[in-house]
Amino acid sequence: KFFYDSDADLSAIRNKKVTFVGYGNQGSAQALNLRDSGFENIVVGNIDDEYKPRAIADGFRTVSISEAVSEGEVIFLLIPDEDQQQVWKDQIRDHLLPNATLVVASGYAVAFDLLELPETLDVVMVAPRMIGAGVRDRYVAKEPYPCFVSVERNPSGKALQTAIDLACAIGATRGRGAVESSCLEEAGIDLFAEQALWPAINTCFLQAFQVLKGAGFSDEAILFDMYLSKEPSEVFERASNVGFFKQLKFHSKTSQFGQLRGTKNSDGTALKAQFEKVLHKDILSGDFARYWSNSLAGGATELEQLWKDVEEEPIQIAENNLGLQK
Ligand code: NDP
Repeated sequence: KFFYDSDADLSAIRNKKVTFVGYGNQGSAQALNLRDSGFENIVVGNIDDEYKPRAIADGFRTVSISEAVSEGEVIFLLIPDEDQQQVWKDQIRDHLLPNATLVVASGYAVAFDLLELPETLDVVMVAPRMIGAGVRDRYVAKEPYPCFVSVERNPSGKALQTAIDLACAIGATRGRGAVESSCLEEAGIDLFAEQALWPAINTCFLQAFQVLKGAGFSDEAILFDMYLSKEPSEVFERASNVGFFKQLKFHSKTSQFGQLRGTKNSDGTALKAQFEKVLHKDILSGDFARYWSNSLAGGATELEQLWKDVEEEPIQIAENNLGLQK
C-alpha cells in the first residue's frame, strides 16, 4: 500500500509543537523540510555538540533534550539507533506529554522493545530510505524519494493520519508515494542485510583473495580485478536499474556463460540454512538486539576486538601494503 500527497492534510498538524531529538543527518534535513512545509513551532533538543550551533544557525530554538521533549506534541527521535535506549531512559521517558506522538526513522528500537513506551503514546515510523542530505535536496527540488511509513501504537486512533501528514511534510509522499511497512519489517530486513547477506559477501571476498593469492597471483592484480576497479559498484548500479541478472547482458558472452553456469552449479543449501538461522534465531527473536544493548552498555569492547581481528586478514594486509586510505 502506498500513501500519496493527496492522502495528507497538513492544516491542523502544522500548528502542533514539534520536537526534534537530534540534529544530525536526518534531524537537520527533516526539521528544515517541516519548517518549509509551514510548521512554525519547532524546537530542537540536542546535546552540546557540533550539531547544536548548526541548529541555531539554521534558526531553530535549541534546548536540552528533556526540555524539548516536555514541550513536544510530536517528537522525532533522530539520534543513532544504538544511543536511543539510554537517551530514552535518561532524558525522554519521564518528560513526555501524555498524548504525544513519537516518530522514529528506523524500526530498530521499537521493533525490539528497547524503549519503554507509555500506553497513551502514539508511535509511528516515517523512515526515509535515503541519507539526510538526499531528504533535504529532494524536498527542495520537489523530487520524490522512497520512504517507509507505519503505525506501531495507536491509542488516539489518529496515528495513521499523523504518519501520512508528517511523511508528506518532509516530502516523502510525492511521486510513487510512501510505502506502508512496519518497524519489524524495516529493522528485520536491514539487520538481515547487515548480519547475513553482507557477511556472506564479505566472506566470499576474503576466501577469493586467499585462493587467488595461493595460486601465486599478485595482491595488486587480485584487488584491482576484484573491486579497486570499481566493477562491483558498476554491477550493483546496473542491477538497480535493469535487474539483478539482466545486468549480465552488459558483460561478454564468456562472462554470462561463466556466471550463469557457476551460479546454477553452486550449492546454496548451507548458506540458506545460515540465513534462516540468522534471521529467526538471532534477529527476529530479539537476541541480537539484547546482545548488542548489553555489549554497548559494557563499552562495546567486542566491536573493538572485531576491528582488531579483521586487521589480521590477508586482504586487509594487502590493502595496507598498497597504501589504501586507513
Ligand atoms: P546522526 O549520527 O546524524 O546523529 C544524530 C544526532 O544525534 C546528532 O545530533 C548526534 O550528536 C546526536 N547524538 C548521538 N549520540 C547521542 C547521545 N548519546 N545523546 C544525545 N544525542 C546524541 O544520526 P542519523 O541522522 O544518521 O540517524 C538518526 C535516525 O535516523 C536513526 O534512527 C537512523 O537509523 C535513522 N535513519 C538514518 C539514515 C541515514 O542515512 N543516516 C537514513 C534513514 C534513517 P553527536 O554525533 O555529536 O553525538
